[in-house]
Amino acid sequence: MEKIIFTFIERCVACKGCEIACAVEHSQAKNLFAAIHETPPPRSRVKVGSAGAYTYPARCQHCREAACIAACPMGAMTRNPTTDAVFVDGDKCIGCWMCVTVCPFGGVSADPVGHKAQKCDLCPDRTTQGGDPACVAACPTRALWFATPEQMAALRRDETTRAVVGDVGPQVAASISLWRTLKGEVSA
Ligand code: SF4
Ligand code: SF4
Repeated sequence: MEKIIFTFIERCVACKGCEIACAVEHSQAKNLFAAIHETPPPRSRVKVGSAGAYTYPARCQHCREAACIAACPMGAMTRNPTTDAVFVDGDKCIGCWMCVTVCPFGGVSADPVGHKAQKCDLCPDRTTQGGDPACVAACPTRALWFATPEQMAALRRDETTRAVVGDVGPQVAASISLWRTLKGEVSA
């Protein structure tokens, strides 16, 4: 399967580096200091929100069965055959906001200046060259990963394994040893 952006939610510290990097990547200059002075100001396609103790960088999930593509009456929402990203064709968009309405992730926002739908496009200028999307590259805690679902599952398994046999390994090993001894599987 193609890569999308995954989040290790426990690593997000709400620095909003992803938001800034996304806005700069979608600016005309693609440079922070020049982008600040652009009109209209470049906007981020990722929004860091909070719920209780956690924060989460919400964005399009590039769904396989994309409700936004199905709902768009103009065929403006479509999939990039090279990157597999769901993106909006601004020339076709009429600003009816059907995509905003149906997206279960809040992945589409409304450009208040151009009155067109705006969303994550997986940074094709970067990813078609083998790079990571701008938000992933900018994240200082590696909360964001550009990976296939299989790779993400392997990362999670790896993290779990290291948590069990790493920091808490000796305690867990001691507990298992004691339990096996009490069961009589190992002679004391
Ligand atoms: S905009 Fe929403 S519905 Fe469309 S692909 Fe992204 S997450 Fe899925
Ligand atoms: S706002 Fe644009 S992209 Fe979204 S459903 Fe309407 S025409 Fe399609």
